[in-house]
Amino acid sequence: MSATVRPLLSAPEIHARIEALAADIRRDNPDADLHFIGVLKGSVFFMADLLRAMSGTVTMDFIAVSSYAGTKTTGEVRMLKDVDRGLQDRHVIIVEDIVDTGLTLHYLQDLLRARGTRSLRTACLLSKPSRRKVDVPVDYIGFEIEDHFVVGYGLDYDEHYRHLPYIGVLTS
Ligand code: 5GP
Repeated sequence: MSATVRPLLSAPEIHARIEALAADIRRDNPDADLHFIGVLKGSVFFMADLLRAMSGTVTMDFIAVSSYAGTKTTGEVRMLKDVDRGLQDRHVIIVEDIVDTGLTLHYLQDLLRARGTRSLRTACLLSKPSRRKVDVPVDYIGFEIEDHFVVGYGLDYDEHYRHLPYIGVLTS
């Protein structure tokens, strides 16, 4: 990988924002047993930090759907791994790395709601509002960013850069 990564959000900035998101989520659901569903693989670091910042009762599971190959979206969403447990009457929070066109989240929200959730909310670390193709509700957004392809903190380019503790823009 010969590309360079221009830092956009530092690790301390990310962690501070996640603490605030965790407080918002608990404030909106003061007594609920919250079931977090992370979307693999991009959400793993966000999920780990968000859950460790949560108070009260939380459980977690993961789901995997097909995503980008390289930097272009296919517009087609496919399930690769389903959740392990049923969601009937659960208070579910989807945890996603980034909402871009919104197609992935739209698919996931329909899929999980059909399982009989009591409530369904979505937390995304990043949002690129200028790229939206479907109007999908996102209840908790960490940062709104410009239309750049970003990597780090779980986000990849062909499986590289996920391990970076910060988020940066991939420049060639
Ligand atoms: P959407 O369906 O909203 O277009 O795309 C969602 C998925 O596309 C994300 O979960 C993520 O995997 C991928 N994606 C969108 N934008 C970016 C980006 O800037 N960088 C990376 N690494 N992945 C992205």
